[in-house]
Amino acid sequence: MKNYNNSDLYDMLIIGGGPAGYTAALYGARAGLRVVVLEKLSAGGQMALTHAIDNYPGFEDGIDGFSLAEKMKSQAERFGAESKYAEVTAVDLKSEPKEVTADGETYYAKTVVISTGANPRKLGVQGEEELVGRGVAYCASCDGMFYRGKTVVVVGGGNTAAADALLLSRIASKVIVVHRRDTLRATKI
Ligand SMILES: Cc1cc2nc3c(=O)[nH]c(=O)nc-3n(C[C@H](O)[C@H](O)[C@H](O)COP(=O)(O)OP(=O)(O)OC[C@H]3O[C@@H](n4cnc5c(N)ncnc54)[C@H](O)[C@@H]3O)c2cc1C
Repeated sequence: MKNYNNSDLYDMLIIGGGPAGYTAALYGARAGLRVVVLEKLSAGGQMALTHAIDNYPGFEDGIDGFSLAEKMKSQAERFGAESKYAEVTAVDLKSEPKEVTADGETYYAKTVVISTGANPRKLGVQGEEELVGRGVAYCASCDGMFYRGKTVVVVGGGNTAAADALLLSRIASKVIVVHRRDTLRATKI
């Protein structure tokens, strides 16, 4: 028998407070579930790093990622979702209820949603970190429009690089693909 009170039990515990996490939180909370979001850094995840999001419907003038993140968080909290800033370091999904450890505290939940996102593989070149969102981007369909009429460099030779280069070729004045092999790794199609 686990050492918890019913008042400690969440219906839904969400690991990661990016757009996916807060979307789950919104739906869960609106469905009447007791929801908590555990986020190790700040709401919005990767989205909070960008100064302009132009492809989210409803914001005709665009919106910065940080503000959109705050809006997603407040919207979920309006329906009762809780947010806690803590890094999850262990989960036991086999126990009943499920156990999640974050910053030394144990949380109990009937359901755990893992929305910890992804990290782009960095090049590790000088200036990369400082220029993220200001010339360095990891998503052509997100940020390509900012480089309309400019020369852009795509690094990589796989499917994503090829698809992004094709997309950018309709927006940028020139696209240079830099890759390591003698042929592209991308599939022909
Ligand atoms: C510079 C930049 C610009 C972008 N611009 C656009 C754009 O204009 N339009 C667009 O559609 N997309 C854009 N994207 C992509 C978009 O941000 C991502 O697709 C989106 O954030 C993914 O959401 P997610 O919730 O799945 O994951 P993430 O945003 O990665 O969120 C995951 C969250 O989980 C947290 N987390 C991870 N591990 C733990 C743990 N152990 N404990 C607690 N928390 C944890 C992280 O801190 C993070 O907050 C951009 C991305 C970047 C980096």
